[in-house]
Amino acid sequence: MNKHSVVIVGGGISGLSTAFFLSRRASQEHFPLKITVLEASDRFGGVLRTMTRGGFQREAGADAFYAGQDDATDLCRELGLQKDLVEAASCFRWFFFLKNKRYFPIPGVPGSFLDTVRFLWHPQLSFLTKFRMLGEPFIPRCRDEQDESLASFIRRRLGQGFYQELVKPLVQGVYMMDPEVLSLGAMFPRFKQAERTFGSLAGSFLKMKSKKKEKGHAEFLTLKHGLEGLVQALVRELGVFEAWPSRPSERVGIPACELRRSAPVRECTYRMGAGWEILLENGELLRADSLCLAMNACESSKLLSRQAPELSRALSEIRYDSIATVNLIYRFEDVPAGDLAPGFLVPMDGECYPFSSLKWLGKSADGKHMFMRAFLSETMIPEVFMESDETLKQKLLDFLDEFFGIQAKPLFIDVERYPRALPQYETGHFERVARIETLTAQYPGLFFAGNGFRGFGITDCIRQAKIVSARCQFQNH
Ligand SMILES: Cc1cc2nc3c(=O)[nH]c(=O)nc-3n(C[C@H](O)[C@H](O)[C@H](O)COP(=O)(O)OP(=O)(O)OC[C@H]3O[C@@H](n4cnc5c(N)ncnc54)[C@H](O)[C@@H]3O)c2cc1C
Repeated sequence: MNKHSVVIVGGGISGLSTAFFLSRRASQEHFPLKITVLEASDRFGGVLRTMTRGGFQREAGADAFYAGQDDATDLCRELGLQKDLVEAASCFRWFFFLKNKRYFPIPGVPGSFLDTVRFLWHPQLSFLTKFRMLGEPFIPRCRDEQDESLASFIRRRLGQGFYQELVKPLVQGVYMMDPEVLSLGAMFPRFKQAERTFGSLAGSFLKMKSKKKEKGHAEFLTLKHGLEGLVQALVRELGVFEAWPSRPSERVGIPACELRRSAPVRECTYRMGAGWEILLENGELLRADSLCLAMNACESSKLLSRQAPELSRALSEIRYDSIATVNLIYRFEDVPAGDLAPGFLVPMDGECYPFSSLKWLGKSADGKHMFMRAFLSETMIPEVFMESDETLKQKLLDFLDEFFGIQAKPLFIDVERYPRALPQYETGHFERVARIETLTAQYPGLFFAGNGFRGFGITDCIRQAKIVSARCQFQNH
C-alpha cells in the first residue's frame, strides 16, 4: 500500500502544527502517511522568533498567546512544554493615551468596581462622552444580522465621543487596524453576541467578569525561554521520530515528516487523477495527494493564480498590513519613568508619533533592566518601509528623550520587519472566507491554514491547523 502524501507549504506555526496534528491522527488511525513541509526561508517559525544577544532574550515577532481558548496551551502541554508556560507581562491592564506630548492612563479591562469608576470618570473623557456611555444599557439592540464595522457598532452603542476618544486610538495602536473597516463579526464576535443575548454590553460585561474569576487563569501566556521554544518542540517532534527508534513506545508508528527549509514554492497545479504538483523555485517538482497552503492568503493566491484564477482572486481580496517592531532594553536607572506600570502607549487620534504603539513591558525579573517594544504599522505610518533601520531607531530615541527624558543609549535596540504579515479582517470578512471555502471545494485535497481566515492570533492558527488535519481525507492507493 502506497502512503498518502501531504505537502504543506509554509513552516510557520500554522504549517508546523498542521503537520503535527496530521501526523498524530495518522498514527492513531494506523494510516501510512508521508508529510513534507516546505519553508521558503532558512528557518522555521515565521512570525515566531526569539532572539538572544548579550544575555538578553527578546521576541522579534509575536510575544504571547491568548490562553482564553485552550488550543495553544494544549499544544504546549502535548509537546511537554507545560513547565515552561509563564504568564506574559500584563500589558492590557493599562493604556496610556498620548496627547499633546503628555500621557494619561486608562485601565484596560477594568478589573474591579473601583477601576470601572475610575474609567468612567476619567478627567480626559469629556462629560458628554461619559453621559452617553451611561446610556448604553438603554440603547435598543440591533437585530440586523449583517456584518458591520467596529466603528459603526461602537458609535451606535456608546456614542461618537467614546469611539473617537478611546476606541479609535486603541484599536489603531494595539491591533494596528482601522476600526472604520474592521469587521465586528470576525474580530469582536463577542460584542455582537453580547448585544444579542443581553441586550447591552454592560450586562454581558458583568457576566463575563464573574466567569473569568471562576476560571482564574492568566489571559496571555508565553514560554520561559521564548515562544520559539514552541517551534523548536514541533520541529523536534516532527523531524526525529524515525531517527530516534529508542524513544518511548507511544511514539512508535508516528510517521516521520520531511521538513525542508530554503524551499520556496513557485506554483501549485492540480492534475485530474494524479493529484497536486508543487513546483519549487529551484525547478524541482513534487507530487502530493493533498496540499495545504499554510501562509498569508496573498502568498497562497500567487501560487494558485494559473490553476485557480477565481480562487486566487478571492484570496487576494484579504488585505495584509506590513509591520515593523523595535525592541529596546535599557538599564533601569537610565529610565526616569521606569516605575510606569506595564501597558500600551497609543497616540490619540490625530497625534503623530514615530510608532503605532509602544509596549511598555516593565522591569526584568532582577529589576536591573527595562524592556520596551514599539510596533509600526505601514497603514498608520506609510513611510516605515521606505526608511532605514537607523532612521526608525533615531526617531524613536528622540521621542523617548523628549517624552520620558531618556537620554542614555539603550543597551540594546533592533528593528525587525514583517512585510504583509498582519491580515486586516475587513467588514464582510467571513463572507469572503465562505466564498474561498466554496471555491476551494472544487479542488480535491486542497486546504488552507494560516492567519488570513478565521482568527490571526497564535491560538487561532493552531485551532485552524487542528480543523484542517481533521478534514484531510486519507486514501489508500
Ligand atoms: C509583528 C507581529 C506580532 C504579533 N504578535 C502576536 C502576539 O503577540 N500574539 C499572537 O497571538 N499573535 C501575534 N501575531 C499574529 C501571529 O503571530 C501570526 O498570525 C501567526 O504567527 C502566523 O503564523 P502562520 O504560520 O500562519 O504564518 P507565518 O508565521 O507568516 O508563516 C508562514 C511561513 O510561510 C513561508 N512562506 C511564504 N511563502 C512561501 C512560499 N512560496 N513557499 C514556501 N514557504 C513560504 C514564510 O516564509 C513563513 O515562514 C503577530 C504578528 C506580527 C506580524
